[in-house]
Order: sequence, then structure tokens, then C-alpha cells
Amino acid sequence: MSNKGALIILSGPSGVGKGTIRQALLARGCLPFWYSVSMTTRSIRPGETDGVEYYFVNDAEFDRNIETGNFLEYVEFVGHRYGTPKDKVLEHLNAGVNVILEIDVSGTEKILTSCADLDPITIFLIPPSFQVLEDRIRGRSTEDEATILRRLLKARVEMQVRDRYQHVVVNDNVEQAVEEIEKIIGKELSRRSS
Ligand code: ADP
Ligand code: 5GP
Repeated sequence: MSNKGALIILSGPSGVGKGTIRQALLARGCLPFWYSVSMTTRSIRPGETDGVEYYFVNDAEFDRNIETGNFLEYVEFVGHRYGTPKDKVLEHLNAGVNVILEIDVSGTEKILTSCADLDPITIFLIPPSFQVLEDRIRGRSTEDEATILRRLLKARVEMQVRDRYQHVVVNDNVEQAVEEIEKIIGKELSRRSS
């Protein structure tokens, strides 16, 4: 039995609904956890706030964070960099708080290989179909056509590694997916505390 918090990784292709599901999980509040805000070099989208969705930084600042070993993991994703700040994640886990990361498949792979001792609960979200994924990315209207196409191409590759995850959840209906994820996490937490 461990007094540490559990690390939960929520992953899946761009546009599948990771942010939507994570926000719904937090809003329901059935499971207490702290959401780790990542750092990114991508531009801020309308409606986003620095420090809420991401810490938006320039390349030089991102480099500084790499050099000082500040990232638990970081990746390049379709032309921009994204990283998980390490200290706060470890502080929360050590204080017994569950932490949720919303990261891509390469970042998950890095944590599974370099930080296996963190023993994460890994959840991969998939869309009901690839067409639905494309509709969601387009419907969000946050990227230009070239970026949408690059993200869709990457999504096809990302979908092939779903077997690396402990749990795969279809995000068709948000409420159903959130309930399923709550059950998965609830079971994992009670298994770990027994
Ligand atoms: P991600 O964080 O994985 O990139 P988002 O959470 O931004 O994805 O979701 C992409 C788009 O799909 C958003 O416009 C969101 O409102 C929509 N969306 C997410 N989940 C669903 C769902 N279950 N049904 C319909 N639309 C959804
Ligand atoms: P977006 O630009 O759509 O916000 O994010 C692009 C992708 O990067 C998404 O799949 C998102 O989950 C992922 N991502 C966001 N933050 C991080 C991070 O800190 N590390 C990794 N590996 N991926 C991240």
C-alpha cells in the first residue's frame, strides 16, 4: 500500500476530446485529482488563458526548461513543443494527491520507459470512427488546413499504439466516457490502496 497519489495519463489523438473529458471529470468532482498544466511553444488560441490550458512560452524559455531538467517529459508535436513540468507533479504525488496528465502518445511512451516507477494508470481515448475525429478537429476551428491535415496524419499513427495503454475508452458520448473513466480510476485506486 502506498500513501502516494496516483499518476493518471489521459491520451489519444488530437481532437478526440481529451480536454473536454478532463474538464468534465474535474467539474463532476467525483474523483479528487490535480491537473498538471503543460508548457507549450504553440500559439495561444482564442478563449485560452496563459496558465490555465497551458503555460505559453517561447522557444528560448522552453530550451531553458529542458536545460535545467524541469520536464518530466517533453515532445515535439506537429511543429510545436509540449512538456510536463516535473516538480509540481512529483510534489503532488508525494503529498498523496492524484495527478492527471493530458499528453500525446510519445510523451506517454517516455514516461513508461524512463519513469516506470511512477506506475501510471494509462487511458487511451478513441473516437467512434476516424471520420468523427476529423469532424471534431475541423469543428473546433482552431487550426489552419495544413495543420489539420498534419494532425490527422499523425492521428492515424497514434491510433495504432492503443495496445500500449491499460484502458481504451471510446469518446462517443461525453457523459458516458466520463463515467467509464471514473469507474476505471476508482477501481485502480481501490486496488492500489488494498
Ligand atoms: P483534444 O483535447 O483531444 O484535442 P478537444 O477536447 O479539444 O480534443 O475536443 C475536440 C472537439 O471535439 C471540441 O470541439 C469538442 O467540443 C468536441 N468533442 C469532444 N468530445 C465530444 C463528444 N463526445 N461528442 C461531440 N463532440 C465532442
Ligand atoms: P494541442 O495543441 O491540441 O493543445 O495539443 C497537441 C497535443 O499535445 C495533444 O495530443 C496534447 O494532449 C498533447 N500535449 C499537451 N501537453 C503535452 C505535454 O506536456 N506533453 C506531451 N507529450 N504532450 C502534450
